[in-house]
Amino acid sequence: NEDPSFWKDHNVQVIIRIRPLSSSEISLQGHGKCVRQESSQTITWTGHPESRFTFDMVADENVTQEMLFKAAGVPMVENCMGGYNSCVFAYGQTGSGKTHTMLGDIEGGTRRHSVNCGMTPRVFEYLFSRIQKEREARREENIKFTCRCSFLEIYNEQILDLLNPSSVNLQIREDIKKGIHVEDLTEIEVTSARDVMQQLLQGAANRKVAATNMNRASSRSHSVFTCVIESKWESQGVTHHRFARFNLVDLAGSERQKSSGAEGERLKEATNINKSLSTLGLVIMNLVSISNGKSHHVPYRDSKLTFLLQDSLGGNAKTCIIANISPSSCCSLETLSTLKFAQRAKYI
Ligand code: ADP
Ligand code: MG
Repeated sequence: NEDPSFWKDHNVQVIIRIRPLSSSEISLQGHGKCVRQESSQTITWTGHPESRFTFDMVADENVTQEMLFKAAGVPMVENCMGGYNSCVFAYGQTGSGKTHTMLGDIEGGTRRHSVNCGMTPRVFEYLFSRIQKEREARREENIKFTCRCSFLEIYNEQILDLLNPSSVNLQIREDIKKGIHVEDLTEIEVTSARDVMQQLLQGAANRKVAATNMNRASSRSHSVFTCVIESKWESQGVTHHRFARFNLVDLAGSERQKSSGAEGERLKEATNINKSLSTLGLVIMNLVSISNGKSHHVPYRDSKLTFLLQDSLGGNAKTCIIANISPSSCCSLETLSTLKFAQRAKYI
């Protein structure tokens, strides 16, 4: 599964992940599946008319968390170790498996190697083991690493600091020294996967409280966990610096927001969710066309999510979109819409 050619020519990779049918979907009489996997890269939507899609990878229910991590997580960490930014997005309708993919079973907190633990815990286990190896191998260069993480939520085009939930409506700033950053966002130094998990669990708990207090489902917000990896070493009397960002994004549910009949906050919310997701789609689409040698304007600033991630999308950054789908025919139209989004990210 460790395919070194994963990133070969392009910086945007798209993976479809099909979750197993849930017990309630199985118990629905007469409801079958809406997709058929053809190969490790091809999937057919079996509605009318049938449509076939090709991606970098199609992962069915037999693809484990471990396999997905090896295919997508390992190359992203290696990219960050090389000093480039990486971004992993989980896209899909609510209930399709985004959080399972990104976090998975982390109830054990810092328990290692639970089979169901997801991309994020595995990425950080691996990152810190790579850092340790690098330190040992480059002792004479006196290499030092510093990792800092932050965790935020974007809801209704407003940024909430999940590591300090009293901080609401934070602003994105851009300056020469810091680049694009969120003003006053909490950053916590982490030195182990255990430290990272502690921040993740704390942020997830704060997110739940915020959602309850504001009477809304977390499925309508995007969460962005970022780790900044800085390294410093000496060679031939010169000090070198390297800096990379790793972003792990659990997107808002992509299901069509019911805006008809909605008023006030609900209407604004529905419009803003669609805006972030469609802007993300447009940005990625433009990046693909730029990498094909066609120059385009990339509308990063049209949403908070894409503005925030501007330095991590495009250029030398690597982006991986994991588009999660339910195979059940009761989700057929949402699944088709996810396949189309993923397809647009892949081709123009
Ligand atoms: P989302 O975050 O997209 O709303 P979840 O990740 O919460 O969806 O998944 C919905 C349910 O399906 C959860 O109970 C989750 O454990 C289960 N699930 C999702 N993907 C898988 C998978 N690949 N294998 C097993 N169970 C899964
Ligand atoms: Mg979720």
